[in-house]
Amino acid sequence: MTKPLPFIDLEAQQRKIQDRITENVRRVLAHGQYILGPEVAELEKRLAACVGVRHAVTCSSGTDALLMILMAKGVGPGDAIFTTPFTFIATAEVVRLLGATPVFVDIDPATYNVDPEALQEALVNFAGHARTAGLTPRGVIAVDLFGQPADYDRISALARDHGLFVLEDAAQSFGATYHGRQAGALAEAAATSFFPAKPLGGYGDGGAVLTDDHDLAAILMSIRNHGQGADRYDHVRLGINGRLDTLQAAILLAKLDIFDEEVAARQEIARRYHQGLKEVVAVPEVAPGCTSVWAQYSVESEARDLIRVKLQQAGVPTAVYYPKPLHLQEVFRDLGYGPGDFPVSEAAAARIFSLPMHPYLTTNDQERLIEVIRQAAAGFISAPSASLR
Ligand SMILES: *Cc1c(COP(=O)(O)O)cnc(C)c1O
Repeated sequence: MTKPLPFIDLEAQQRKIQDRITENVRRVLAHGQYILGPEVAELEKRLAACVGVRHAVTCSSGTDALLMILMAKGVGPGDAIFTTPFTFIATAEVVRLLGATPVFVDIDPATYNVDPEALQEALVNFAGHARTAGLTPRGVIAVDLFGQPADYDRISALARDHGLFVLEDAAQSFGATYHGRQAGALAEAAATSFFPAKPLGGYGDGGAVLTDDHDLAAILMSIRNHGQGADRYDHVRLGINGRLDTLQAAILLAKLDIFDEEVAARQEIARRYHQGLKEVVAVPEVAPGCTSVWAQYSVESEARDLIRVKLQQAGVPTAVYYPKPLHLQEVFRDLGYGPGDFPVSEAAAARIFSLPMHPYLTTNDQERLIEVIRQAAAGFISAPSASLR
């Protein structure tokens, strides 16, 4: 590869929507309502319509979206929240911040999302397990990793049987679908993120909660604004400064205009990657009835580290999401987990890497990419993808 390729190309996107961005930003500078200005309300209306839920409550980040939902649910010390160890730290960090306990369950090796069977096992064994004795099971946070929704039909059925709420960490999956429904509409409430590298990314931090629950939305609006009550200096609960900037909303409105096209482009690129790479690495699988928005295109190989070095030399950037599962992180050492507790997550962490993926990857660049990856991976082929799973 002659010139190094970007891992994601926000510049190409900016060139395409420069006029809309400038116009939207100019409008905010003209009206001057930098906090909760009209663009915030407009964005919330459009996000809710995109996903097909009644309410979108924007906020300062995907992390705060998760935090605010747990605060609204009254999660605190003594509560157990089931989630995956193969995710970004934020998913479990918010649980611990509130004094509650993340209870990890292993993932499905094909989708990297919470394995419903592992969840069932964790629920059945809960009372008898030393690690969870004395805790109250409260909820499940399912994560739509790499842009593919988790298996909500099975997860929700299990949660219902055990009286738990289900939250969707849709930070990576805005724009994906699950049996005809949009990601963000697959649980009681969903948190999404507008971090620049996410499929719908802004020019800074941002996030949103999506929900059909009218009362929950009202509580979330209060929490994101210091627990505000009847007016600005009336406070009825503990909250945070969790608002989305008006400028960020204005930028996201411009990006939302082209979002559907971008998702289609990502899906076309993923299709080509699949065709070109399925013989040399374990390519990702999308479950029947689902679509992915391909926040990451992640493949697996025994020879991951060697292949990555070769690709880097050829000007192809790669990344590893995630090199260390959460149960092995220092910050969660007190939870008492150790190596071997979640073998599927640990195996994925040792073998996975992500390829450049963004809607502005040209056919030409992609063909060159595929060729370079095929060459780098040749000789390391240990097994075709299906038998790796
Ligand atoms: C990015 C991400 C978050 C956090 O979103 P921020 O906007 O960066 O706070 C949470 N969960 C997952 C799975 C993510 O990928």
